Amino acid sequence: MRVPFVDLKAQYQSLKPQIDQAIAGVIETTAFIGGPFVRQFEQEFARLVGVKHCVSCANGTDSLFILLKMLGIGRGDEVITVANSWISSSETITLAGASPVFVDVHPDYYSLDENLLEAAITPRTKAIIAVHLQGQMCEMEVLGRLCSKYQLSLIEDCAQSHLSEYRGIRAGLFGVAGSFSFYPGKNLGAYGDAGCIVTNDDELAQKCLMFARHGALIKHQHKIEGMNSRLDGLQAAILLAKLPFLEQWTKARAERANWYEEALAEIPEIVPPVCRPDTYHSYHLYVIRCQRRQELMNFLSERTIETVVHYPTPLPLLEAYRYLGKTPEDFPVSSRLSLEILSLPMFPELTREQVAHVAQSIKAFYQ
Ligand SMILES: *Cc1c(COP(=O)(O)O)cnc(C)c1O
Repeated sequence: MRVPFVDLKAQYQSLKPQIDQAIAGVIETTAFIGGPFVRQFEQEFARLVGVKHCVSCANGTDSLFILLKMLGIGRGDEVITVANSWISSSETITLAGASPVFVDVHPDYYSLDENLLEAAITPRTKAIIAVHLQGQMCEMEVLGRLCSKYQLSLIEDCAQSHLSEYRGIRAGLFGVAGSFSFYPGKNLGAYGDAGCIVTNDDELAQKCLMFARHGALIKHQHKIEGMNSRLDGLQAAILLAKLPFLEQWTKARAERANWYEEALAEIPEIVPPVCRPDTYHSYHLYVIRCQRRQELMNFLSERTIETVVHYPTPLPLLEAYRYLGKTPEDFPVSSRLSLEILSLPMFPELTREQVAHVAQSIKAFYQ
């Protein structure tokens, strides 16, 4: 039985008429850039998240960069981010002209460790990028309190946390703004690159929109220099066709996480993911900790079960950050986790048989 890491084709097949119609609709109306599909997607995504504004853009990396720029973050400033994430969470800080400051992850929840945050704040700190990694929310009460105390902008990187919740409140609603990615493999995925910013701040929304549209809200009236970062009509129409299913897909992910948890319970070499209390985990990834990871991956691969490591190297230890002079001892949790974590296949169409097969294969490996 083949178990792919994600199966984008299964999802397409389940929605083929809607998707094909959406694509044809854009071509027929030539609404390739801007137009009704983009506007409608922004409105409906904002409604689903429960936020006033959604500003679409070309991808999730751009949305972080645009936010940092429009919050006035630049040279001489520091922005705190987390040691285990995708590089967008830190490269955009540098790209905006500021300096990334890395904080280790929580040993139980694998997202930013709120207990280490205050020690990382300096007089130059301007913002925190809270990454809700794997679909697991950060400890928002503590983060919110520290951001108020030190007057920092709280930016949420929600690329892996569509519809995740902390105490009943959705990801993207805690900070000054949230950043989403609709990369194909994300919980809501386009058929190419796509992203957006969500915020309740009217002025910030307008600024981000202007910056992402060459600094002009009205054609040829460029108030500032900006960039070209747009969600295109085809991607917007595809996302619109998929959006009504996001809640049920998210529930399906949680259900599959339960199946895994039950099936993996008797394997002592495996540590299943733990949900932070009072949160709703959207399981973008189902990450276990395991012993003899590479051997296990090879064993599973021989049985056509695809697994991935998110991420093999903590960000500050990548070659790109060698100039910071950091060592594994500076990020003991991320460094240890980077050797033990393994993302198992996780997508809404994953069958109970596939989950059982993955669990049985893991069991067979340790026996
Ligand atoms: C995917 C991802 C991004 C970037 O999104 P793109 O759309 O690929 O640019 C940023 N942060 C995190 C945590 C991600 O997983």
